[in-house]
Amino acid sequence: MSRLTISVVAPMYDERAVLDQFAARLRPVLDGLGEPYEVIAVDDGSRDATVARLLQLRADWPNLRVLSLRRNVGHQAALSAGLHAASGDWVVSIDADLQDPPSVIAEMLAAARSRGVDVVYGVRADRRSDSVFKRGTASLYYRLMRRLAGPWVGDQAGDFRLMSRAVVDVLNDLPEQRPVYRLVVPSLGFAAAEVPYTRAPRAAGETKYPLGKMIRLTLDSITGFSAAPLRIATWLGMISFLVCLALIVGGFAAWAAGGTVPGWTSLYIAVLLLGGIQLICLGLLGEYIGRIYAATQNRPPYLVAFDTSTDNGFDTGDD
Ligand code: UDP
Ligand code: MG
Repeated sequence: MSRLTISVVAPMYDERAVLDQFAARLRPVLDGLGEPYEVIAVDDGSRDATVARLLQLRADWPNLRVLSLRRNVGHQAALSAGLHAASGDWVVSIDADLQDPPSVIAEMLAAARSRGVDVVYGVRADRRSDSVFKRGTASLYYRLMRRLAGPWVGDQAGDFRLMSRAVVDVLNDLPEQRPVYRLVVPSLGFAAAEVPYTRAPRAAGETKYPLGKMIRLTLDSITGFSAAPLRIATWLGMISFLVCLALIVGGFAAWAAGGTVPGWTSLYIAVLLLGGIQLICLGLLGEYIGRIYAATQNRPPYLVAFDTSTDNGFDTGDD
């Protein structure tokens, strides 16, 4: 097999509805480059017919490689699986729902080569197709992460990006369990360029990022890049301690003045306030300890069920 110049990694979870359109749009772009390439469709434990359809599509698109994970491990871990499997000189990560237009890949590659950079970010210049809620939470996320992690966090640069082999090798050697790639990649400091693009609406199917997964990504982003929340916990503790001190002095004054019973309200508020603050701080500690826990367990973040590039004997009935 000749050396691959381009690997396109597309994690997909229950994307049967959009799959045919995705392949139909991606293929001419990659064929048009005239270079050896592979498309690694990472099936993130889909429950619908995604895998069956991928294997069918492979019949007349040999560049398509299907990497099927044993269960749903989430977008970032699926991306991780794809990056480890990719062997191209350049690796592009792209969403399967066509929100990232495949034609931009050609621009990214041209930009990387002409400007001699290792990373090209697809930057969402226009997100009007996303819901107000999605845009609002996304803008909050990037602002927060720039503050907590560092000014190098790109604005509106998600997971549509091109990376050189050097970058992917570094990423694949990270001991981290759940790297948030959109933050880890810029943190490495490789020379980078940006290609702006218009975020298209999802071509078919539903979002696979419900609120729970968005919160998970945000917590992983924060705890992966900043210990600031722990300091906030310390500050909250100090402030509540000062407030308690004032209350104690007040309590003594009231006791000295002889009126002690009508202290119910302040007692009630103080107990609730302290309880709340303590729970928040415990939760924060738990997030960090959870990461340490996962790291010490050192379990694989994903397991590959089969990979069409190696498991040709896999019994799928049609392959
Ligand atoms: N995805 C995945 N595993 C998941 C959730 C999402 O592989 O557990 C994939 C999904 O199939 C898509 C990409 O991640 O290719 C981005 O997801 P989606 O478009 O649903 O997110 P949104 O654009 O709504 O934020
Ligand atoms: Mg999407």
